[in-house]
Amino acid sequence: MDEDKIGEVELREPVLLYKDVLICPLCGEKSLEVSSYLYTVDYFGRILITRGICTNCGYKFRDVKLAEPTRPKKIIVYVRGEKQLRYLLVKSAYAYLAILEKGYEMVPGPASTGFITTVEGVLLRFQEALSIACKDSVNERCREEEEWLKRAIDGLERFTLVICDYEGASKVVGDDVEEEPLDDYCIGKKPEWLEFP
Ligand SMILES: [Zn+2]
Repeated sequence: MDEDKIGEVELREPVLLYKDVLICPLCGEKSLEVSSYLYTVDYFGRILITRGICTNCGYKFRDVKLAEPTRPKKIIVYVRGEKQLRYLLVKSAYAYLAILEKGYEMVPGPASTGFITTVEGVLLRFQEALSIACKDSVNERCREEEEWLKRAIDGLERFTLVICDYEGASKVVGDDVEEEPLDDYCIGKKPEWLEFP
């Protein structure tokens, strides 16, 4: 992905907040170059993008979250077609994401990283995961899910995208977006190891 442009949205005026060389979690050498930049994004506010690359083993990560955290919340996007596919979203590292009608989910793990993309970008991630899962099989279920994702990416399917944002560091920008307090559904999806005050 282009680091400085997401969809039609420009990431403007990056400000370097932090830069250091840390111990790499993979090889254990002090060769992990980490930098955090603050970006201002149209309609979105300020987001923090942290990148790390190990000059010894090549380990890489990128993390994205809101620079000014909000309250924990449940975000619901009613996708009806192409318009909502263009909505920009930040999913922070420890947020849970699901497409309700399909049971597709992104369950946070201790090594999860956040990302900024569009609703379409989320579908593309599920499509990529599916193509890996279905690589060596040609069963009916794989075929059906591939077809559904293809139609959804073309704006031909209606679905509900939900983010359970336990740390208040996620956001979706758009007209058909609702925010509610975390409910039983989100509490039930929260990983046991995840603790926020
Ligand atoms: Zn390393």
